[in-house]
Amino acid sequence: MDYQVIIIGGGPAGISALLWCHSLGLHAVLLEQSSELGGQMLEMFHPVLEYPGFPNKTGQELRDEFATHLQAYNLSYLLNCCIEELDLRETRMMVNGEHVTARALIIATGARNRRLELPGAENLSGISYSATHDHQRFAGKNVCVVGGGDSAFEDCLILAEVCPHVTLIHRSEQFRARQGWQQAVFKHSHIDVLPHNQIAQITQENSEALRLSVINHLDGTRRELITDGLFVRLGIEPNTAFLQGRLQLDEAGYITTDRAQKTSIPNVYAIGDVCRPICLSVSTAIGHGAIAAKGIAETLRQQFDG
Ligand SMILES: Cc1cc2nc3c(=O)[nH]c(=O)nc-3n(C[C@H](O)[C@H](O)[C@H](O)COP(=O)(O)OP(=O)(O)OC[C@H]3O[C@@H](n4cnc5c(N)ncnc54)[C@H](O)[C@@H]3O)c2cc1C
Repeated sequence: MDYQVIIIGGGPAGISALLWCHSLGLHAVLLEQSSELGGQMLEMFHPVLEYPGFPNKTGQELRDEFATHLQAYNLSYLLNCCIEELDLRETRMMVNGEHVTARALIIATGARNRRLELPGAENLSGISYSATHDHQRFAGKNVCVVGGGDSAFEDCLILAEVCPHVTLIHRSEQFRARQGWQQAVFKHSHIDVLPHNQIAQITQENSEALRLSVINHLDGTRRELITDGLFVRLGIEPNTAFLQGRLQLDEAGYITTDRAQKTSIPNVYAIGDVCRPICLSVSTAIGHGAIAAKGIAETLRQQFDG
């Protein structure tokens, strides 16, 4: 299969790039690894208030509107794609056993919640990445939250409304969360804060509960906590593992680009959360899609004319 543009990632950035490629007359395909489009929009259960035109739609409902838009123009996107080989300089790859080539590539692989990176933790029940979504599931139960930023503190406050006891675990006593949320958490009667502590091991205690083995960095003591749920709120990380050593990334693994969304490799662009925009949002991702598609259209026109 040969295209002018391959877009990797089917979140709002990739969807916008596909629409812009279509409107600029570029033959493009979008490759998404999961079984549906939308990326992080699928985790937004609240209305996306600041996205123009759809004030009452949740992220999922907004995603449905975006998907309908693609279908209205009969645009090509492939789900369940696994990139098995990738040559960025030649803009070619092997996807689900088939060779795919293009003149330009747009990387829109976004970001995801940072995982605990403890053996076996991914498969345990009782672990959640969002109190907004899961707080009712844990109503009346005792839970722990791990993290020290806005999302960890916000989750503590959401959970304290429905849980008798919430424990916040954080590796230091430096918290990045906004001051107002810190004050509310520290004075809340249902919330305990364990600074200088790190989860060293996590196992399933029984079908209902988890056992956390927690080490205190100050005095080296280890304690066991039995909890009904663990909310992991350690921030986000870019989906760039498959790009390590292939193009320039920053110290946190995000793709570095210039203002035109060009990466360190000619004809390879990166858009949306994967290149650490100042404001991580649907609107930014969509704007990046437009910038990259315009840049590619201009570059290909010059290469063709020249
Ligand atoms: C809980 C939550 C609430 C949020 N609330 C808001 C809000 O209110 N307003 C707002 O504007 N923004 C909000 N955001 C942020 C917003 O969702 C993101 O900024 C936006 O989705 C980024 O879009 P993206 O296309 O760059 O990446 P993503 O949405 O992360 O999409 C990336 C896509 O690439 C796919 N992918 C990854 N690796 C590969 C690969 N190797 N091959 C193929 N496909 C791949 C992923 O499966 C995913 O579908 C929220 C995010 C979260 C998690």
